[in-house]
Amino acid sequence: MKKTLSKSTGRKTGYRSEGLRGESRTEGLREESRSEGLHEESRKKGLCEESRSEGLREQSRAAEPRQKSPGNWRETSYPVMEHFYTIQGEGAHAGQAAYFIRLAGCDVGCWWCDVKESWDESIHPRIDTLDLVRAAAESGAGFAVITGGEPLLHDLTPLCQGLHEAGVRIHLETSGSSPMSGEIDWVTLSPKRFKEPLDEIFPLVDELKVVVLTRKDLQYAEKNAARCPQKTRKMLQPEWDTPDSIPLIVDYVKAHPEWSISLQTHKYLNVP
Ligand code: SF4
Repeated sequence: MKKTLSKSTGRKTGYRSEGLRGESRTEGLREESRSEGLHEESRKKGLCEESRSEGLREQSRAAEPRQKSPGNWRETSYPVMEHFYTIQGEGAHAGQAAYFIRLAGCDVGCWWCDVKESWDESIHPRIDTLDLVRAAAESGAGFAVITGGEPLLHDLTPLCQGLHEAGVRIHLETSGSSPMSGEIDWVTLSPKRFKEPLDEIFPLVDELKVVVLTRKDLQYAEKNAARCPQKTRKMLQPEWDTPDSIPLIVDYVKAHPEWSISLQTHKYLNVP
């Protein structure tokens, strides 16, 4: 089904039907501006405490209260740490080309977070939603991944409207700890004990991805899985700097084959 991106220009846009990849992109998008386009049991409690405190400090500098979006998604912008075309490294869609939009701001404060520079949204530029949409659509990616940071600190409605009008499918990676917004095609919930998911996210979850450091995380994974729909893909991912979690996960998946292992393959591939 064709969708219209811009009534004002009369250009037809978003020629991709959902799920179809690589079809020609809209004239409008091409013609418009080219702009950018364990807990390691051995870890000291003190480190966790320190890192948690750091997270909480950062929290106070995180996102402004969510603002109501104007009716027209073209008039909106987001604080963006980075956006780029790459390979989805993790989870159920690992190995597939994807356009990543990493929104800035996070109030969760995981001490092992590998994108701490995303936490403070004030140090990142705001980018027009239109430019993000153009970049994602022009990349030819099969889908866009909205991630963070914690992307649900922002109202994702305009960004999703824009991406869908351009025919781009949308995957969301979230801790689920802030209210849901936007129309999402694939929801990946990565719950964090530091700030628990809200109840409202669970019925929407397509993929549950739990970062594992210790045995406690396996229990935490089951607790969250019990709240997700039956069809949810259940994945356990070793924390990158905690290799001791790998044998734990391997044994667990062998004993509980409804779970799969997610690896951060982008780090092996040396792509962002
Ligand atoms: Fe980092 Fe994600 Fe945890 Fe936020 S929720 S601190 S971005 S790992």
